[in-house]
Amino acid sequence: MTAPTACGHTGVEAETLFDAQDPATGDAFTIIRCRRCDLAQTAPAPTDAELDGYYPRGYHSTTKRYRGGIDRVLSMVHRSRIRSIERLVGGPGSVLDVGCGPGVLINQMRSRGWRVRGTERSPSAAQQARDVFHLDVGAVDVDELVAAGATYDAVVLWHVAEHLHSPAATVRGIARLLRPGGVLLIAVPNFGSPEARVGRAGWFHLDVPRHLVHFTPSTLTAILDAAGFRPVKVTHLVPEYDLFSFVQTVENRLGLPPNLLYDVLRRPEARLRRQRSGRLQEIVAVGTAVPLSIAAVVIAPLAAAARRSATIAVYAVRLPDQRE
Ligand SMILES: [Zn+2]
Repeated sequence: MTAPTACGHTGVEAETLFDAQDPATGDAFTIIRCRRCDLAQTAPAPTDAELDGYYPRGYHSTTKRYRGGIDRVLSMVHRSRIRSIERLVGGPGSVLDVGCGPGVLINQMRSRGWRVRGTERSPSAAQQARDVFHLDVGAVDVDELVAAGATYDAVVLWHVAEHLHSPAATVRGIARLLRPGGVLLIAVPNFGSPEARVGRAGWFHLDVPRHLVHFTPSTLTAILDAAGFRPVKVTHLVPEYDLFSFVQTVENRLGLPPNLLYDVLRRPEARLRRQRSGRLQEIVAVGTAVPLSIAAVVIAPLAAAARRSATIAVYAVRLPDQRE
């Protein structure tokens, strides 16, 4: 197997875990794990130019992606998260959201008195952030902000690290952007969770090849430690991800077209799958979701209580630099 690259351990023979297909294109990939640092990775990792083709147009380009009241629930969930950051940094300050998408979170933070900035590689999502919310969002690299001497009280890396070719380098850059005592909120899918193990190639959050890296709590903690962070709070229930992820993972394992329910729930312009499914399959996907959702409401909090959720969110404090 080719050597892993996302962890920088080139020349180390990687362990092959299993094969997986992109639910949108059907392209085949392999999940490998570095024998030195245990970091699981997608192989072969597409180049940035190739990856652009793997992000369907609607991936994160609309501010209202879902039907019904889901967006309203999201705003309540965001509020509790923002409050957690405020408790750690002592109130609203300055925040950078790396990979902010259309800027829903920082728009809400600004309304609470935060000075906000976002970065976003997707031109359409960045455009939405500017047009809809009038936010300062552009395709800026963390390295460019470091070079410009920017500093923040908080940085958010929300379901972004798994998309990066070198997440450890980005986390090190973020450490330089944060004041000592500043907070990084980082959320990732949990490849070490029972849901990931049972779901394997059908796990909703595997999402190859858009997810290049598949973190476990320990591989994520290792990256944070090495960059000078101390995790102070780990949230094991991320409701907007975990409930749905359970339902979709089970439906994938039952043999329905991969991530069909996810697409049915999205507004038509934000759908991911290139092939349309039959009406009957869509009805089965929605019908099966009802009992599965009830099961998810029971199982997801149990997984969280056991600290084995399908996703984790870590609040990590930037320690004072030893050289300072
Ligand atoms: Zn490694």
